[in-house]
Amino acid sequence: MSPNSTDISNGELKLLQTDEYLKHESINYAKKWKEFKYFLSQLKWFNIILITTVHVIFVWGLITFPWLQRGRLILWHTFIAHLCGIGVGAGAHRLWCHRTYKAKLPLRAFIMVCYTIAGHNPLFYWVRDHRVHHRFTDTDADPHNSKRGFFFSHVGWLFMKKHPDVIRKGKEVDMSDLWEDPVIRFHHKYFIPLTLCFCFILPTIVPPLVWGQDWYWSIITSVVGRYVIVLNVTWFVNSAAHMWGTKPFDASISPTENITVSCFTFGEGWHNYHHTFPWDYKAAELHYAGYNGSTLMINFFAKMGWAYDLKSASPELIKKVALKSGDGSHFVWGKEVPESAEEEIRKEVKQK
Ligand SMILES: [Zn+2]
Ligand SMILES: [Zn+2]
Repeated sequence: MSPNSTDISNGELKLLQTDEYLKHESINYAKKWKEFKYFLSQLKWFNIILITTVHVIFVWGLITFPWLQRGRLILWHTFIAHLCGIGVGAGAHRLWCHRTYKAKLPLRAFIMVCYTIAGHNPLFYWVRDHRVHHRFTDTDADPHNSKRGFFFSHVGWLFMKKHPDVIRKGKEVDMSDLWEDPVIRFHHKYFIPLTLCFCFILPTIVPPLVWGQDWYWSIITSVVGRYVIVLNVTWFVNSAAHMWGTKPFDASISPTENITVSCFTFGEGWHNYHHTFPWDYKAAELHYAGYNGSTLMINFFAKMGWAYDLKSASPELIKKVALKSGDGSHFVWGKEVPESAEEEIRKEVKQK
């Protein structure tokens, strides 16, 4: 607005005098400057520099990596990424956070190691943040509130101090069960040496020592490449799977069914189902849908007797919920009437 321009904010047309206009503008600038200073004070510079740096190296590595000559290294990291998926999906998420099944000590120890390979936060914090996320989804108390945009829910939330509501409401979430588990206590106590060992050192030294891989690419792919991929894949559950996809089970919430995210996270992208039935160990309606590696692993360990008391929603309950609150996109109980329904009606008419 220029000096001596018009202001119609109160419904009446009036001319702003130059000094009045300048006063008005200086208040605006002061307000914006105050907001900017507050925004700066909320940034976590260590995280910003670290995460940005590894991503820049990652992009450079993607361009220069000799893809055709390092097949064994790619296979090695694919294997390691599967372990990460089990640790985060079947472990931190489905076992410790949602208690969808029970696991004996050897299995808990194994998935704790798998989780550590992924290089995420200490398990206790991961579980706390995720429980808060479920309880206060898409509010200010949600650590990665997707209403604040894709970037914030994907990685931006790690660049900033937590919203006061996240801290305040987070205290309401019961975490006592976590400390009862000696595996969690051990992981918390030795978090740094465990992460250095299982996330960075071991995956780096195995390829050169076992099959003579060059150290350079082994370090780049372990410390940066796989690490960045695993981080982003997990973050996509908080961002993409809260924005794009269908909502066959509950149309009123933001989480969606996202097959792409599901394939890369070993079954964690069926997020509308998961937020509707968070206690289901499959985290999806069908355990084979997409690629649900975590469910396959839990089933495998259940056969061994290491996993037990697996909880799962019955088809009847799923049907009832999908018909009542879904968006109509369910593959069976969507708004489209299946052909078989007509046969059922005919049978009913005949019986009458
Ligand atoms: Zn969850
Ligand atoms: Zn979610």
